[in-house]
Order: sequence, then C-alpha cells, then structure tokens
Amino acid sequence: MDFEAVIGLEVHAQLLTKSKIFCSCPTAFGHGDNENVCPVCTGLPGALPVLNKQVVDFAILTGLALNCKIQKHNIFARKNYFYPDLPKGYQISQYEEPICLGGKLTFLVDGNEMTVGVTRIHMEEDAGKNTHHGEFSLVNLNRSSVPLLEIVSEPDMRTPKQAGEYLRALRSVLLYLGVCDGNMDEGSLRCDANVSVRTRGAEKFGTKVELKNINSFRFVEKAIEYEIGRQIDLIEQGQKIVQETRLYDPDKNRTVGMRSKEEAHDYRYFPDPDLLPLRLSDEWIDGVRKQLPELPYEKMNRFATQFGLPRYDAQILTQSRDLAQYFETAVKRSNNPKGTSNWIMSELLRVLNDQKKEVADSPVNADQLGDLVRLIDQGQMSGKIAKGIFEDLAAGKFSNKTVEQIVKENGLVQVTDTKAIEAVIDKIIAANAGQVEQYRSGKDKLFGFFVGQVMKEMKGQGSPTVVNDLLKKKLKGE
Ligand code: ADP
Ligand code: ZN
Ligand code: MG
Repeated sequence: MDFEAVIGLEVHAQLLTKSKIFCSCPTAFGHGDNENVCPVCTGLPGALPVLNKQVVDFAILTGLALNCKIQKHNIFARKNYFYPDLPKGYQISQYEEPICLGGKLTFLVDGNEMTVGVTRIHMEEDAGKNTHHGEFSLVNLNRSSVPLLEIVSEPDMRTPKQAGEYLRALRSVLLYLGVCDGNMDEGSLRCDANVSVRTRGAEKFGTKVELKNINSFRFVEKAIEYEIGRQIDLIEQGQKIVQETRLYDPDKNRTVGMRSKEEAHDYRYFPDPDLLPLRLSDEWIDGVRKQLPELPYEKMNRFATQFGLPRYDAQILTQSRDLAQYFETAVKRSNNPKGTSNWIMSELLRVLNDQKKEVADSPVNADQLGDLVRLIDQGQMSGKIAKGIFEDLAAGKFSNKTVEQIVKENGLVQVTDTKAIEAVIDKIIAANAGQVEQYRSGKDKLFGFFVGQVMKEMKGQGSPTVVNDLLKKKLKGE
C-alpha cells in the first residue's frame, strides 16, 4: 500500500521581553536557580497577575507577519493540570478566544513555493523546570511565567522536509521581528510535531500522534521520519494507531510512548477571573503594524529580482536580517551582486561557521568584502591576493582597515608595469619551451598554465589583465 503522512506543528516561542508575562521578574536566561521569582510567578495565595503590554505587542506583530486576523476581544483562560513545575496548579493561557486566527506562512522547499496555514496563535505563560537527581528532584521556577507564543499550524505538511522548512521559515520570521531569539538549544523555540498517516488519496486523516521534546531542526525531521515509519509498520500489521503523546529520543532515534493524549475537557479550561478581558483598538493594532519590517520571503523575492540572483542565493542571503544587510552593504561597494553572493556563501559563511560567530561579529566587514570583489573585477587584484587578504582579515589581522589601506601598507600593490611583466613572461617562455610548442600547435588549454607560472613568479601581484594581454601576444610570438 502507498501511504502519505500528514503533519501539523505546534511551536512555542519564548518572547524577548525583559520581564515575565504577569509580573516584573526578569526573563533572562542563566541566572541562579529560583533567583527570578516573586509571589505571582510562584503562585502564592492572593498574588494577582498584571498583563505585560509588550507581550501583546509581540503577539500582534507576529500575527500580522503571518497574515492572521487579529482578534480584538481576548480572554485569558486557566488550563488546569498538576505537575511540580506548575505552582498554581494551572497555566494561564488562551483557549476559545486567542489573539490571532487564520494565517499562513509561505516558504521554499527544494526551490518550490509552499504555503502552510496557521490555525491560531495564542499567548501563555511557561512552566518552571524540574531536574532529576536520582533520589530527589529539584524545581527551578525562573522560567515560570516567562511569556510564550504558541503558534499552531494546519495539518498541511506531508513530508519531514516540509516540516523542517516550515520551522526554519517560522524561526526566520520570528528573528526578523525581534520577538524571539530562536535558540532551540536553550529552549527559546520548541516544537511539538503531530503526525498521522493515511493511504494516499484517502480523504480522512488518520489518528495522530503528538511528538514532544524535539529540540533541534535535525531532530524534527528525524523524529517525524521515524514516527511515519512506525505508524506504517503498525497499520501494515493490521494494528490501530492509538492517539497518544510520544517522546523523541535522539540518542536511539526512536519515539517512546509517554501518555495517552489528554483531551481539552481534561484541562477544565475556564476564563481566568483575575484577568480582565483584553480589548484591542484599531489604533493599537495599526500602531504595531507600522513596526512590521520587510519579511524574509518578501526580501528573498526582492533580492532575486532587484539583483538578478538565483532564488537559492537569495534565500540563503535573507536567512537573517543581518546577513541580508551585510549583502546589501557589500554590493554597494562591489557593484557585482552574483560575485558578492558567491563570496558570502562560500567564504564568509564558512568563516563564521568555523568561528561560531554571528554576522554582526564578522571579522571581515561588508565594505571590505565588497572592495575585494570589485578590485578583482576591475583587474586590479588577483583572486589569489584577494583570498589572502580575506583569510588574514578572518584571522583577525588588519581589523577595521580598509582594503585600500591594507594594500598600501603591505606592499600588495598591483604590478601593472608592462616592462616588469614582460621580463617575467620572457623568462617563463624560455623555461617552458616544450609547453610553448604545444600551445602554438593548438593546445589552448595550456594558457592557464602560463598565467599560473607568471603569477607564481610575481607572487600573485601581477595585474591579471595586463598579464593576460601580454601573455597572449608573447605566446603568439608578437
Ligand atoms: P488537539 O485538540 O489534539 O490539540 P488540534 O486540532 O488542536 O488537536 O491540532 C493540534 C495540531 O495537530 C495542529 O498543528 C494540527 O494541524 C495537527 N493535526 C490535527 N489533526 C492531525 C492529523 N490527523 N494528523 C496530523 N496532524 C494533525
Ligand atoms: Zn515573578
Ligand atoms: Mg490543540
């Protein structure tokens, strides 16, 4: 039988607010255990929550970026369950009236456009964190009441790859908006994947399983892949899929049953009587709309048209706002979009990756990279010298100097003097009589060999244009 998977993602994004959602405790990561707590976020009796306006602004901004309808009437609801990391015995969330409904996200999968529906976005507070130490367990409430957005997708994805790309695209939007740092290792971005399978062509969805605890992009795809295989095996053995929550174990690359899926009624949702309904005015929403930046997908399309770049390049260059900015600055200096894109994708990203640095801390700045590309284009610098300067910059040499200064101060001046170059060419021709013979009898490919020899002799400092011109003439015997 031919099966097809159906996948929907629920993503939790921790918001980059300074303080928590209902109290003024800091949200900063890395503080001592239970340092960032107060009566509100530890659920002491009588403590009252007060909504953080920044959370609402971020939720509206995210909703607008994902083409959602922003709901003017909002209710906070209590979601009741018992767990040691949840001191109140309930989590404040949104249920029937979330802030955003009915949006979409468009992105590329293997170069093809795909659009996934966004069902809803709601605001909620995070729980604390338990750590287990053999005989005993500890509870750290620093994370308790840190603001989250839960972004729920429609079950529109069919392959692990599509789910991975959706998550990447969503992360990129959140980073562009500056609402979340997107750090999956630290748990600022978390993903639950809902997976079911059905026979291809069937209309009804199969029973879904929810995968929790997926904390990297690589694992999202692997976990879904594994789960699809597991479900197909069960169905082929004539068994039924049980609706449940399963945990992904990255070490063993498998999923294990955790609990049977709870239904909404298990949570006994009801409106939180401590929080007033939240009403949003048009002015409020329009004010936030003005803060919308150009988003990754729009920027990608603009880069492709404005600079005539392949969409592949444009997509990589627009992954982050900083990288896109870097490219636009460099292109102003180089006037060569494709050349600049090539240098960024092959050289710059390699260096940043090796040094585990962000674009903002790049050891080679955009002006420097743009200048190198331009000087090569203008025949004023060989690719080899440019590469050398780039590597030196990457290694922390010459920081903040312009390429012009570097060239001057290090005697990397181009030799354009025809006399000097002719002398070298004569020497090379004399030393390689055999190759000259072959070249003259039609082996054109050897031209590159001569250029290489001359450049080597000149330590890469010969002007490529002059060397080429003179060599052609001399080899012809002119
Ligand atoms: P629940 O009430 O169990 O939380 P929802 O309808 O809210 O279920 O859906 C939760 C997530 O599961 C959404 O991202 C949705 O797209 C996805 N989903 C729903 N049904 C299926 C299915 N049959 N297969 C895969 N994913 C599904
Ligand atoms: Zn607090
Ligand atoms: Mg749900």
